[in-house]
Amino acid sequence: MSKPIVATASLAGCFGCHMSLLDIDDRILQLIDLVEFHKSPVDDIKKFTKMCDVGIIEGGCCNSENVENLRDFRKNCKILVALGECAIMGGLPAMRNDIPVKECLEEAYLGSPTIDPKDPKIIPNDDDIPMILDRVYPLHEIVKIDYFLPGCPPRADLIWEALLTLATGKELNIPYEVFKFD
Ligand code: SF4
Repeated sequence: MSKPIVATASLAGCFGCHMSLLDIDDRILQLIDLVEFHKSPVDDIKKFTKMCDVGIIEGGCCNSENVENLRDFRKNCKILVALGECAIMGGLPAMRNDIPVKECLEEAYLGSPTIDPKDPKIIPNDDDIPMILDRVYPLHEIVKIDYFLPGCPPRADLIWEALLTLATGKELNIPYEVFKFD
C-alpha cells in the first residue's frame, strides 16, 4: 500500500517550527516508515510533481514569493495545516504591520547602524527579488486552511500527533487547552 505523502514549507518564519518537527527525536524513523516526504526542506525536493495528502506550512506571507508558494501548496495538498504562530497570526514578522513599507525599507537599507559607510546606500530593487507586501498576512487570509497548530513553535508531541492523525486519514481534534496559553 502506498504511504501518505507529506509536503512542508517555511515562508516568513524562522525554521523553528521545522526544528520542532525534528524534536520528535527517534520517532523520525517511524515517521519515515509511515509517510513519504515530498516537496520540503526535509528532503530538499523543490517542486511538486504529485498530489500530496498533507501540506504543512510554517510562517506567514510577507512577499509575493510566499503567496505563490502558499497557493502552490493549496493546489497540490488535500489538507493544509498552518504550523505555528507566524502561519496562524503573522507572528514576529507582523510587528512591521503598523509601519509603512517605505519606512521599513529605509530603516533596513538606508538608516541601519550596521550598514558599512563605505557601501553605497541603496534599497535593493531587482526584478528577481520578490515584491514585499504591504503587511505580513496570516495564511488563512490568502487560502483556505484546514487545521491550525498553535505554539511558537508548536510542541514536537503536538506535531507528531497531528501528523499521525492526518496521515492515517483521521480528523484532527485539537483540545481547547492547546490554544490556551494564559
Ligand atoms: Fe519561528 Fe515561532 Fe514563527 Fe515558528 S512560530 S516560525 S518558531 S517565530
